[in-house]
Amino acid sequence: MTDLLTTVPTLSGVSVTMLRDTILGHLRTSLGKDPGHASVYDWRMAVSHTLRDLIMEPWFAATRRTYGEDRKRVYYLSMEFLIGRMLEDAAINLGLHGMIEEALAGVGPEFRTLIEDEPDAALGNGGLGRLAACFLDSMSTLGCPGYGYGIRYEHGIFRQRFEGGRQVETPEDWLIRRDPWVFERPEAVATVGFRGHVETRGARAVWHPGETVIAEAHDMPVVGWQGRWANTLRLWAARPTTLFDLARFNAGDHTAASEPEALARTLSRVLYPNDGTQAGKELRLKQEYFLTAASIADILRRFRGQHSDLRKLPAHVAIQMNDTHPAIAGPELIRVMVDEEQIPFDEACEVAVQVLGYTNHTLLPEALERWSTWTMGSVLPRHMQIIERIDDWHRRMNPKRPASVSILAHDEVQMGTLAFVTAHRVNGVSALHTDLMRKTVFHDLNALHPDRIVNQTNGITPRRWLALANPPLAKLVTDVVGDGWQADLDKLKGLEPHVTDAGFLGQFAAAKRENKARLADWIAATGGAKVNPDALFDVQVKRIHEYKRQLLNILEAIALWHQIREDPSSAIVPRVKIFGGKSAPGYATAKLIIRLINDVATKVNADPVTRDWLQIVYPANYNVSMAERLVPAADLSEQISTAGTEASGTGNMKFSLNGALTIGTLDGANVEIREHVGAENFFLFGLTAGEVVARRARLGHEKAAIGESQRLRDVLMMLAEGVFSPGEEGRYHALTDMLWHHDHYLVTADFEAYYQAQRAVDRAYTDPADWHRMAALNTARMGFFSSDRTIKGYMSDIWSVPPAI
Ligand SMILES: *Cc1c(COP(=O)(O)O)cnc(C)c1O
Repeated sequence: MTDLLTTVPTLSGVSVTMLRDTILGHLRTSLGKDPGHASVYDWRMAVSHTLRDLIMEPWFAATRRTYGEDRKRVYYLSMEFLIGRMLEDAAINLGLHGMIEEALAGVGPEFRTLIEDEPDAALGNGGLGRLAACFLDSMSTLGCPGYGYGIRYEHGIFRQRFEGGRQVETPEDWLIRRDPWVFERPEAVATVGFRGHVETRGARAVWHPGETVIAEAHDMPVVGWQGRWANTLRLWAARPTTLFDLARFNAGDHTAASEPEALARTLSRVLYPNDGTQAGKELRLKQEYFLTAASIADILRRFRGQHSDLRKLPAHVAIQMNDTHPAIAGPELIRVMVDEEQIPFDEACEVAVQVLGYTNHTLLPEALERWSTWTMGSVLPRHMQIIERIDDWHRRMNPKRPASVSILAHDEVQMGTLAFVTAHRVNGVSALHTDLMRKTVFHDLNALHPDRIVNQTNGITPRRWLALANPPLAKLVTDVVGDGWQADLDKLKGLEPHVTDAGFLGQFAAAKRENKARLADWIAATGGAKVNPDALFDVQVKRIHEYKRQLLNILEAIALWHQIREDPSSAIVPRVKIFGGKSAPGYATAKLIIRLINDVATKVNADPVTRDWLQIVYPANYNVSMAERLVPAADLSEQISTAGTEASGTGNMKFSLNGALTIGTLDGANVEIREHVGAENFFLFGLTAGEVVARRARLGHEKAAIGESQRLRDVLMMLAEGVFSPGEEGRYHALTDMLWHHDHYLVTADFEAYYQAQRAVDRAYTDPADWHRMAALNTARMGFFSSDRTIKGYMSDIWSVPPAI
């Protein structure tokens, strides 16, 4: 055994020569290529395999220790993992970035070329999926034994293009070439059933599914900082139980004969590009059950390898539900305990509750999942019965419970309530969000279970979002505070004494300038405008959604453009406004906002009067790798959602960490970011969450706000006159009509305050030294927002799992 292990390459034995030999070796034996004829793809695969080899040792060691010490494991169930590229991340975590560059020098392409050849694994829509990816990174860094469980979608989030300014979606095909990070596990399979009927045998129920698919595991190692621990991201792909039905085929029913194959292919084919609103499609429910059932079968198989009594599950297993998407986990766990192990129902409920945790991500009512009892009953007939019994159990345990907390209401299964009732901890993702959860969506449940709701403010991994994305700043940080901040972000505090030092500020400014120049080159190279790297880079990148208020931002751009045209001497700071983000394909208003941004960009960028002062760019297809380019180059971070709507945000954290100042509302984690970085280093504007509620209740608040702002009236007039849509005056009628009459997200109410806050930004930017001092203070004070801190919170308050390292 020991002899075998010594043949595994280990980090301690790494040298440039060894890396070069291994890369060349892989080129020959794994790729079958002579270095002289190898393509960029071949080199990327060879380097990926080389790094992968080095992850095996910590990966196996982590598994051996978890088994050997019979440690409790955490299972993070998420329909989305927005992991992005893996090669550079592995190099950074293993501390081998520089050595790989050296190993390639003279023999192969530049490392950067290989890094950018990798497709961006975009198995998620936005923040929720990216959070899951940051959490995996932190769990491995902290030595929290566990697995991420997700779906291996054939197509991740769609690729976005613009045609005539409009969003066009095309399929993303990240799997078209071999993925060096995935290990297929044909032996790790689970059968998942749907539909069918439930047979009653005395007191027992037996579910006979009418359809089945096989879930096949695809494992990706997730290595933590310095390769001290590695967990697994296990993604399930659907396979047909039988390739096709020969009897039906021979009977002439050729289409029906392929049904099992069609069902399986459909199940793991596409990610729902559905950010926020609920499509109510059966396929989505099937996907959710597919993930949940396969994962729970896998978890129980592993548990049964070492234990027998499922009642002991809570001592060994913690399952976290990332939003309600896997909330069928409660009924599924209970089904297994009751139907397969004959555990009494009430006891099964208590065990499930101790095992499960639920993270809520939204207060928007339209985004809370609900399934009609008809759909649930036909897709998952046994689970529908169990859900009714859970509701009954909860009523019996809480005889005084109000009708508002029942899981079944209006012939629908309320998935938020189901998740709440079947979890021992329910967490919000920022202090404000958790507070609002207690006061609004879960008010009555909170009264019944006052200890259940806890807060875990989101975080981001400093490995990807500083070490990887921002080499110039990372180097400066290391020069000043030493190494180690990558896994102990509070060390950034050590920058603070230097923010009054002109030498340090010069270096800080130079790092930002370098990132901006790099971004400007990339924008030009990818067909965008030629932007001025000395302008203020003002960035809003995130999903396009009314509540995130990209509309407010573009209206302000129009107002600014108009102002400079009227009085060129009023312009004091050149500004480049950068937008990025996708809209859900069926979200008409968001798509119209995208078109407006592009139309305004076309008009403004062509204006010789304002060109030197205002430019607008909107690179298509925002994803993790684009975020890695944009975030380090930003001077100003736009976090301008209507107060009370953004649960936390994590984009806001990436920007502050990288030395951008925020213009933002008191929403989500902005509140805590502002507390940490200091109110004087943050441009606050807008109504508070409480004021938003009061304002909305005021009839005609839109007209009042518009009446008070000549500037806003001018902007709306320009839109109505077709200034940005020549020949089609009505193009933006739907938007102006909304702003005048049903402005739910209070763009009109906050417009003037936002415009004035932007002018305060302009004034601040005219004093570069002071600006950089404030920016550096943002970086120095962002230690709290490491996802390592967040995961420590989950480990102690929700999972009861001690770190293994
Ligand atoms: C961080 C991130 C998000 C989340 O951004 P928010 O501003 O918090 O909505 C979305 N998409 C990508 C690609 C990200 O990296």
